[in-house]
Amino acid sequence: MLTVSAYAAPSATDPLVPTTVQRRDVGPKDVLIAIRYAGICHSDIHTVLGEWGPVQYPLTVGHEIVGEVVEVGDQVTRHAVGDRVGVGCMVNSCRECESCRAGEEQYCLNGNVGTYASVDRDGTITQGGYSTHIVVDEDFVLKVPESIPYEAAAPLLCAGITTYSPLRHWKAGKGSRVAVVGLGGLGHMAVKFAHALGAEVTVLSQSLRKKEDGLRLGADHYYATSDPATFTDLARSFDLIINTVSAPLDLDAYLGLLALNGTMVNVGAPPEALPLHVFTLFSGRTSFAGSSIGGIRETQEMLDFCAEHGIACDVELIAADAINEAYERVLASDVRYRFVIDASTFG
Ligand code: NAP
Ligand code: ZN
Ligand code: ZN
Repeated sequence: MLTVSAYAAPSATDPLVPTTVQRRDVGPKDVLIAIRYAGICHSDIHTVLGEWGPVQYPLTVGHEIVGEVVEVGDQVTRHAVGDRVGVGCMVNSCRECESCRAGEEQYCLNGNVGTYASVDRDGTITQGGYSTHIVVDEDFVLKVPESIPYEAAAPLLCAGITTYSPLRHWKAGKGSRVAVVGLGGLGHMAVKFAHALGAEVTVLSQSLRKKEDGLRLGADHYYATSDPATFTDLARSFDLIINTVSAPLDLDAYLGLLALNGTMVNVGAPPEALPLHVFTLFSGRTSFAGSSIGGIRETQEMLDFCAEHGIACDVELIAADAINEAYERVLASDVRYRFVIDASTFG
């Protein structure tokens, strides 16, 4: 066992504090990673607050991890000491079910092992990336291309893949009209990817406060959802809507923006059930869908796509003692566009 420095939530209501976590000994198929940066995903906050259900405290979250391989097990073939690597939201899966065999481990029929707050193979609760080191099975470790700066790469491991995957699945590209709802961590990546894929991109944000940024990130149009005219002006005008909002929305209002056969994909994960009138779907044979992160193969594809297209995340680098303040700012939609923690400040 390796005892490493970390930050953890002691409960749903107390601020995160410095602590240590135990990492297992490096097994034959494991790699030990010295973490350089860890992104703050809104999912970390939902989890720590217990909004998605009870969790065991103390809990170390963080599933946007980049760093260097410092030790490998004797059967490791994919990674070597010194490699730049990343770890996202999963650290294992059954590898045998239909989803795993299709490379869609995020939909493992036996439940994937999440990077934090999940029961690991040895029965322990997984602890995430707000720490100095992590031990992960080599199959769930990604290669981070040299051309992407480390800190700007970290959020790709969740915010990046979570938006890339539905854009690819629903074939965003030349000739398609894509709307991105919410310009936060996921939203700003959705705009960059949709633009790089050749789609016409519209941001639907609560206000016009971030309009200049949205256009710089690659949006063609920018509208405030606080203005009721937005919903009449844009009625029936999108082929694909990617909703990244962390809070409940009036789904019928947004579904009314879909063109014939259009799809609205929810990647935002509010804890509440959301009402929806089926008649809204009838009026244009539209679909309401969900999408969860992406498989390991597609995550590597996304990282390589970023390297090829010069895409990375816009980040605000912080020290570990600023995590609690960063959480407050994320909750206030005051993030441009991802907080990333310098792992050298964990202790
Ligand atoms: P984030 O950085 O906080 O961005 C969310 C954005 O939603 C905000 O910046 C804001 O954008 C908008 N928003 C927030 N509250 C709102 C409200 N009450 N009404 C309308 N708009 C609101 O969060 P994130 O890290 O991108 O994550 C977004 C959601 O995706 C979270 O629920 C997270 O758990 C979930 N998630 C899901 C997956 C998956 O696999 N499906 C993966 C990662 C994260 P504007 O200021 O532009 O309006
Ligand atoms: Zn995440
Ligand atoms: Zn499986």
